[in-house]
Amino acid sequence: DYLQTLGQKGPFALVSDENVASYYADSLIQSFSSARLDATSIVIPAGETHKTLAVVNTIWEQLLAAGMERSSTLVALGGGVTNDMAGFAAATYMRGLDWVTLPTSLLCMVDASMGGKTGANLPAGKNLVGAFHSPRMVLADPAVLKTLPHVEITSGLAEVVKHGVISDPRLFEICAGGLEQVSQQWETVIKRGMAVKVQVIQEDPFEQGRRAALNLGHTIGHAVEALSGYTIRHGEGVAIGMVAEARLAEKLGIASNGLAEQIAGVLHRLELPTEIPAEMPRQKLVEIMQHDKKRKGGSVRFALPTTIGNVQTGIVIENLPQLMAEI
Ligand code: NAD
Ligand code: ZN
Repeated sequence: DYLQTLGQKGPFALVSDENVASYYADSLIQSFSSARLDATSIVIPAGETHKTLAVVNTIWEQLLAAGMERSSTLVALGGGVTNDMAGFAAATYMRGLDWVTLPTSLLCMVDASMGGKTGANLPAGKNLVGAFHSPRMVLADPAVLKTLPHVEITSGLAEVVKHGVISDPRLFEICAGGLEQVSQQWETVIKRGMAVKVQVIQEDPFEQGRRAALNLGHTIGHAVEALSGYTIRHGEGVAIGMVAEARLAEKLGIASNGLAEQIAGVLHRLELPTEIPAEMPRQKLVEIMQHDKKRKGGSVRFALPTTIGNVQTGIVIENLPQLMAEI
């Protein structure tokens, strides 16, 4: 119905990963055929290790085999990995065709599906190839979260809490109710989580300023993830990073004392970690953060929370190694 309202033309190609396809691809293909719309199912392997150009290539070839033209529509169904690769295939196949995305992981609903960033990894690093190509529609159905593994739920909630801290105190308060309460009101949580991202990217569609607010928790979080050899999941790294960065904000005097503990309390109730593992040398984390930046020719810039609902961006910390040792 939504596709017809938007006037999207077929043939359609549905791209999903093997896990998501096993739950939902058949019923979607069924809906297409009941509406007399021509749709092909393309299934890709699941997981970040398969977020490669080799897999994008298999999508391109299957689009061609399915007779997709410039006026056809690609439909992505899955988590952030599927969203990013299917979106990139849509951005590039025949110089770009329309796509819509049906996010099925919490992270993809509140984060990856919006903003138009698509792409794949190279062996040298994450998301090194890509394009900005916004979907014509993002349609999230909270019912699919029933099959999402528990760790993916908590991991996604780290980004929801982040959105609360950036600009939605009410969302933060809902999260403070804990996992049980949050899962009784997915629709509200997802809508509010999406709204924060939409608002930020509307202010800064091509990532020149305000969008840096979305990096809250990610500067330290990425370093923690990397130093753990990726045994710490993305959402867990973001949770740890948010608390650590709030502590930095307190030390710099831009946040009042107690903000970090307030954030930690909420993350704890959502079963997320809040402390940098004791065995991780703080100096190593600083080196990782600085190394990432050096490649891009700049200094490490933080997005730091000042209150629940406000973030200050572009902050360079002169005595970073010393402050990191204190938090
Ligand atoms: P993912 O796509 O790998 O999904 C996580 C796992 O959950 C996968 O095994 C998937 O098969 C499974 N799954 C998804 N939905 C399910 C459901 N409803 N039921 C059962 N299983 C389900 O990972 P993710 O955490 O969704 O996304 C991470 C990716 O998102 C990263 O590659 C990251 O770079 C990207 N990302 C992109 C943006 C952006 O702006 N484009 C923003 C943030 C993250
Ligand atoms: Zn993130």
